[in-house]
Amino acid sequence: MNPQVASEDNPYHAMEARLDLAAARLGLEPNLISILRTCEREITVSMPVVMDDGSVNVFEGFRVQHSTSRGPAKGGIRFAMNVNREEVRALAAWMTWKCAVVNVPFGGGKGGVVCDPFKMSKGELERVTRRYVTGIMDFIGPDRDVPAPDMGTDGQVMAWFMDTYSMHSRNYLPASVTGKPISLGGSLGRIEATGRGVMLCAREALKHLGMNPKECTVAVQGSGNVGMISALQLASIGIKVVAMSDVHGALYNENGLDLAGLRKHMQVQRKLDGFKGGDRLSNKELLELSVDILVPAATENVINSRNAAKIQAKIIVEGANGPVSAKADKILDDKGVFVVPDILANAGGVTVSYFEWVQDRMSFFWTQREVEERMERIMVDSFAATVDMAQRFGESNRIAAYMLGVDRVAETTRMRGIYA
Ligand code: NAD
Repeated sequence: MNPQVASEDNPYHAMEARLDLAAARLGLEPNLISILRTCEREITVSMPVVMDDGSVNVFEGFRVQHSTSRGPAKGGIRFAMNVNREEVRALAAWMTWKCAVVNVPFGGGKGGVVCDPFKMSKGELERVTRRYVTGIMDFIGPDRDVPAPDMGTDGQVMAWFMDTYSMHSRNYLPASVTGKPISLGGSLGRIEATGRGVMLCAREALKHLGMNPKECTVAVQGSGNVGMISALQLASIGIKVVAMSDVHGALYNENGLDLAGLRKHMQVQRKLDGFKGGDRLSNKELLELSVDILVPAATENVINSRNAAKIQAKIIVEGANGPVSAKADKILDDKGVFVVPDILANAGGVTVSYFEWVQDRMSFFWTQREVEERMERIMVDSFAATVDMAQRFGESNRIAAYMLGVDRVAETTRMRGIYA
């Protein structure tokens, strides 16, 4: 990284800063580090789409494959107005390390389309999705690069994705994408997987620190797939959910939010606003609440050098990708906050995506119990391996998780050699 252009808000720089620390600690060869710092392939597509009113809108889309050293690239597709190439590159690299931390045989990729899915009709969303798939078609597939949902996308978008890919391939190819509806080869337990993984990490962190879940409170930023399911899962082990938010603001109730009511309200209104069971707070205030656990489950860099000193939570479990900036790492470490880093905490999603891909390729489907038990084993073992690495090397959990993941990717990259 060129320090002249390094910025706290650039997520790729945030990724590189942690990679550099982990690589130095592992004593990796400089040539190898330069390979791991670079994305293998970056695709940009311009997509003219006819809108409902007859006008044509040209959307910009990206797909970045950071690494295919350990297997096909794997990673979600984000539909949001602030999607940009640097962000997609960072998210792709984080997928590489994440897949390696939980040891699933994938590399890392990510995609995004600059659009506002909340302002588009269903037809417009479908046309954008299908056009995007055809734009990146030559570079994806079950053995090349397997997308999944992320912010602003869901099972319906994945269904259109799989249909478009299958139609063009003249084959039924459900393993081309994960996070699909169950009827199209989706896996039981996939919708809950990321939030359930967050809960398992919180549970293991509490156990590690000798804290009782039934005496703990949590604030969750974000109430989408990851935020809402994390909140429900954390409540299921007795943790009191006192605050939640969406992009417009937060709700706080010291006696615990009525999650069932809130979920119903969200399904109809698609926003927290208007729900009566709590006091309004800003997202900034939510992050600084005096709670035991904080789950940032929205977007990047929400905890940074400007607010890290004000964080009061004892534990942070990163549901979102990149919610803590590299500069904030040191401030949180100095305060003694126990951070479960994103590449471990939200890896439940990609773990069950891997199970979905395996089931689709076998055309043999597992029970919810089989999915949950296998996922729990992987998450608990990966948590233990990270904490063990942190203790052995005297490093933070974040750098320990990077060391675990980076070392595995370095090993395959070294073994494969440089093809010339
Ligand atoms: P989502 O679109 O379902 O929900 C996002 C939530 O964040 C919404 O409540 C939205 O209102 C809120 N939000 C958006 N921008 C915000 C901002 N600037 N400030 C505060 N709140 C904001 O998305 P999701 O799938 O839940 O993903 C959330 C995060 O989790 C992302 O970082 C994503 O990359 C990560 N993640 C998702 C999965 C998955 O399986 N969906 C897996 C791993 C990681």
